[in-house]
Amino acid sequence: MASTRTNLTLVFTGALIAVTTALGLTLWTVRNASLYRDVARYAITQADVAATLVRDAASAQKAVIVGAETPPETQIVTPRLRTLLDAFPDYLVVVDQLGTPLYLSALTRELPEEVSDTLLARISGLPNDSAAVASIPGVEELLLVSRQISDTTGTLGRVIVGVTTSKITTLPREYRIVLFFIAPLIILLAAWLAWTATGLTAQRISKINHDVAAITDGRSLHRRLSMDHAGQEFEALVGTLNAMIARLETSFMGLRRFTADASHELKTPLAVLRADVERAMTDHTPPSERLVALEEALQETTRMADLVESLLTLARADEGRFDIHKEPVALKPLVQDIYETAVILGEGAGVTVNFPFTADVTVMGDPTRLRQLFLNLVTNAIKYTPAGGKVELGLGLHPDNVTFAVRDTGIGIAAADVPHIFERFWRADRVRSRMSERGGFGLGLAISQWIAQAHGGTLTASSRLGRGSLFTVTLPLPARQPEETPAE
Ligand code: ADP
Repeated sequence: MASTRTNLTLVFTGALIAVTTALGLTLWTVRNASLYRDVARYAITQADVAATLVRDAASAQKAVIVGAETPPETQIVTPRLRTLLDAFPDYLVVVDQLGTPLYLSALTRELPEEVSDTLLARISGLPNDSAAVASIPGVEELLLVSRQISDTTGTLGRVIVGVTTSKITTLPREYRIVLFFIAPLIILLAAWLAWTATGLTAQRISKINHDVAAITDGRSLHRRLSMDHAGQEFEALVGTLNAMIARLETSFMGLRRFTADASHELKTPLAVLRADVERAMTDHTPPSERLVALEEALQETTRMADLVESLLTLARADEGRFDIHKEPVALKPLVQDIYETAVILGEGAGVTVNFPFTADVTVMGDPTRLRQLFLNLVTNAIKYTPAGGKVELGLGLHPDNVTFAVRDTGIGIAAADVPHIFERFWRADRVRSRMSERGGFGLGLAISQWIAQAHGGTLTASSRLGRGSLFTVTLPLPARQPEETPAE
């Protein structure tokens, strides 16, 4: 199969040849028509002049014919008229009313007899005051013009002038040079230019192709396609491809970090689990210690199960498989229930938890997921609030939405860190040991944000380091919300 380059060049050259031929033919036709007009005008003038000369001679001498001799091409017009008519350079024949030739011009007399006879036969068939193109063997093509000679006494006969059309039908030399030499040369040059130009384009495409092919795996995603020599029309393509590669690089890096973080998070509980199991299996370990080791092992498996569950939730969310089953959910009982759990958790941590009275609000949502979201925020608030601090839950109904807020007087988050808290595996103190009482995977807020978004809502955070944080979930109101008293 021919390359695009060959095809383009062929199409371009073909089109050029077609256009040149059409233009040449048009010019040729126009030129011929104009030349025919000129030759006809010339022949008519010649015939008119000759007719006038014959008529004038006839009226002056009362006779044109001085002798009817055979053959007729001999002198049968007066010598004076003959001298005048001999000055005509073309074929000129004067015939009487009956068509008998009275005078033949020098050019006509020189014709061989059979040619001359054919010409005279053709002339005799020509109607008065008419013009015709005649091809007579032995003579070039002629444009014949017949003119009647008439004076006051009546019709004297006819003058026929024959002018060769060879000047029209023969290609002039310049035309031949243009047609057979210059035009093919220009077409060849244009074809070469088309070939070179398409070659340049093909080169650019193959360069882009080569650059893209060099990006074989995640490690080469930092590469970008070069804009040099891309040409204006390919700059946009290169730009789009570079933007796509940049997006791929970002998601690839995210994926790599995610995998590394996930394996890291699994590695530690696995090591602990192994140590616990080994301890439990050692012969000289007393039974009470074995029990402790097995309990720890159980805790680790629970922890790992939690991590795997969180990872699965996020993976499903990434795939767009939201296992969210919406139904009307009364938020007040839900938050009240969470509040009661929070009070117990708070007691253990020395944190006071409050939930001021609010009116009930109903939203469309998945009660299990909403519970997970709210509980996540509340446990975080307690986890990151030192003993003696306070955590307050709030439910609010606004004209356009419903909010659930968790405010704490805890350790807060540095302003620079706030934009990162919803990233997966992000934790403010990454060096913190898993064994620390606050140890988490850094996945809770990522999942919480996904739950809020899957309900058509948002999760936002504002915080001041050392002063506390405020996490707010905003959920849309169902289409028809019964009249409620907005909460404080
Ligand atoms: P984790 O399991 O580590 O708590 P999260 O995704 O829930 O994971 O939270 C991510 C990080 O955001 C936490 O490690 C913590 O540094 C910070 N954070 C979350 N909630 C609070 C809060 N109420 N006060 C201070 N820091 C918080």
